[in-house]
This record gives sequence, C-alpha cells and structure tokens, in this order.
Amino acid sequence: MSNDKVVQPFTIEFNLQTGLSPKEQPLQRRLSDLRGMVRNEEVLEKMIREEDLLVYEFYDMHSPETPFEVQYGTSITYPGKVGDEYFMTKGHFHNVLDTAEIYYCLRGHGYMLMENPEGEWDAQEMIPGAAVYVPGRWAHRSINVDSDEPLITFFAFRGDAGHDYGTIETKGFRKLLVEKNGEPEFVDNPRWKS
Ligand code: MN
Repeated sequence: MSNDKVVQPFTIEFNLQTGLSPKEQPLQRRLSDLRGMVRNEEVLEKMIREEDLLVYEFYDMHSPETPFEVQYGTSITYPGKVGDEYFMTKGHFHNVLDTAEIYYCLRGHGYMLMENPEGEWDAQEMIPGAAVYVPGRWAHRSINVDSDEPLITFFAFRGDAGHDYGTIETKGFRKLLVEKNGEPEFVDNPRWKS
C-alpha cells in the first residue's frame, strides 16, 4: 500500500496447511482470553494454570475502513476442548450490524455458529471447500470439532464493518457446542439471558 488513501494492487500468501502468512503477524487468543465465555470456568482456570494454550489466531490486514474496501484474512482455530466444550473463537457482531461476511473453509472440520438480535440461531458445518455466508445482523463464531486438525478459514467483509464483542463477552451465544458420546451437540447456554 503506497499511502493511506490509495491502495495499490498487491498479493498476500496464506499457507493452506497452517493458515499462516509468512510476512504478516496474526493476532492470538489464548485460554485466558475466553474467561467468562465458557460453560465450565473451573476447568478453564485449571487448564490456564497448567498452560495458557493458544486457542485461535487470525489476521487484521488493516484495509482502509471504508465501505469500498475489503477486510480479509485467515482464522485458525486449534483443536481442543474446555471440559466438553470445543475450542472456539469469541465471536462478534459487526459494528455496522447489517454488513455480511464470507468464510471459506480451507482445512479441518467445524461449525460457524450464528445468532441475530431477533432471537434466531443457526450453525453451518465447515469442511474444506464450504463457503459459509454470514448475513448482516448475525453474530458469528468458529468452532473446531476435529480432535487433531486446525480449522482454517479465509474470511472477507466490508472495510468499515468493524467488530462488536461487547454483547458476546457478557453473555455468550444462545447455544454452546459440546461433545456428547463422541459427537458434537448444540445445547442451550445456561448463562444466556434475553
Ligand atoms: Mn465478522
């Protein structure tokens, strides 16, 4: 990029196996960043004391925050569980609530969990090749249900959409994804209050 106002054509590489870019630094979120957001806080604290594991990382490529540009990058959610709850991203609404987003799954197996202020929720399965459309108004969270592989997605959304974590950080999503008898199962979040 030559200056703040004009973006010149450029290319960024994201590795298909790791999801990482050799030149850019991802933002990282660890177990301690999920405090207040998981079903079993006791197990979470015990895990943090042993090792504050990396749960996910993602890129902010700092595209200009205008409606004409596109924010994009990869998101990598690592395999693991807090108790029976799969590793996940915090999830967020967009500040410009009506802006949509695309997540294209490059590797792994997981779900895009979504909900909107109108009270609906939805989950789309993510396997390599699946392009999940997250409409405007829907909060979204990536969840990795594989026991070995990272869940890697490429995302793109409007340049000025921004992130709103506030409502998610205080009450989470309506649904949780937990492992029951070796299978993923969506259950009600006991902490969620309307
Ligand atoms: Mn988003």
